Amino acid sequence: MSTYNKKNNLFKADSRQRRYNILSYALLGAMCLFFSFNTLSCTSETRNNTNIEDKTILGVWAHPDDETTSGPVFAKYARKGAEVILVIATDGRLGVNDWSGYDAGDELAAVRREEMQCAADVLGADLYHLEYEDQFRASEGFHAFIEQSRGFLDDLHDIIEERQPDIIITFGPDGGSNHIDHRIAGATATQVLLSKDWEKKPSLFFAGSPNAGSDNYRHRGVYDEFLTVRDHYTDEDADVAAEAAKCHASQFLPERVDSWAEGWRESGVSYFRPFEAPGSQADDLFSYPSQYPEIR
Ligand SMILES: [Zn+2]
Repeated sequence: MSTYNKKNNLFKADSRQRRYNILSYALLGAMCLFFSFNTLSCTSETRNNTNIEDKTILGVWAHPDDETTSGPVFAKYARKGAEVILVIATDGRLGVNDWSGYDAGDELAAVRREEMQCAADVLGADLYHLEYEDQFRASEGFHAFIEQSRGFLDDLHDIIEERQPDIIITFGPDGGSNHIDHRIAGATATQVLLSKDWEKKPSLFFAGSPNAGSDNYRHRGVYDEFLTVRDHYTDEDADVAAEAAKCHASQFLPERVDSWAEGWRESGVSYFRPFEAPGSQADDLFSYPSQYPEIR
């Protein structure tokens, strides 16, 4: 069930139907980005005593399907009782492929909206599906792009103000796949967080894929040791994420999702690089303490 929030020009779903009723777990998924089929496997879950039921985790993404990047993590925290919120910036109108039969435009945007709502419902997430266009109208020039990107900044500010998340996760500078929209999503979340002294200060994390040993490490992923948060999830979480990914039927063939699901279950972990809030102060750049105390 959805409601249109006129004030913020947002489309907000009040789905509170978290993690329940997900009977047939199937496959897995991911999108026009990446994902990590990493090597560290572990079955442990959150190791501290944090009361997850009081927490809110918010994901900031560019396209319908990008949430698949952290699908198992969203499924995990929804299962544990946290409030899970997804912000999807664009309508996906340009995401054509050669097999689904859709042309770019309004019809495809409508399909993507339904698919995104389906995925949010399966994950047990509230959805803010904003109405910006893929590439934020960059092809129309500076002014069109700025209008869209500033709208995204303002909307995200208002959402964070209203929902008061404890955790925000988004793309890092690589955007997972170098997609410019992904980079804008990550930069927008970071800019909003840095824009003021928030009363409730959320922790920001960038989803990352380990790139050690990769020939194209400059283009995709993050050096393993910068990914200092390794969030473990269960097979059940992986299966829920796969079912959610299959909602994106105009983007993912079931076999593709199945192969992702297998990788998720195998790894059982998602990697994140934390944004480090300022702690130390300095009068000159070279006197500031190393930002990599655990690595160097
Ligand atoms: Zn994307």
